[in-house]
Amino acid sequence: MSDTIFHKIIRREIPAELVYEDEHLVAFRDIAPQAPVHVLFVPKSDFATLNDVPEEQAVVIGRLATAAARYAKAQGFAEDGYRIVMNCNGDGGQTVFQVHLHLLAGAPLGRFGTPA
Ligand code: 5GP
Repeated sequence: MSDTIFHKIIRREIPAELVYEDEHLVAFRDIAPQAPVHVLFVPKSDFATLNDVPEEQAVVIGRLATAAARYAKAQGFAEDGYRIVMNCNGDGGQTVFQVHLHLLAGAPLGRFGTPA
């Protein structure tokens, strides 16, 4: 297994505020939240970026999205809405090279996609 900060969280070598875990993935609060709710969904299988996920492993990404939706429903903000984001490489703003999905919610989020 690789050795990013997220792998260390998965292995319980550094602490994180976990909100969900199963055999496939973990979810924990982002250390620098960009919205009132900011949770990261991270697979336990090892992929540095979305570019590295082959078609036959698409379920890995699907599980992140459906886990995020389940969490939104369980927490009661699914109907108000939320955003899921996956940053990829430099221009996408990725800083941790274990693929992950951001769930942002808890306030109107505004538009997105403007170049830095
Ligand atoms: P990326 O920029 O790679 O899409 O997202 C990485 C995210 O991980 C950032 O939002 C950042 O705040 C979060 N992060 C970085 N280090 C830690 C950490 O040690 N603990 C937690 N909970 N989040 C982290």
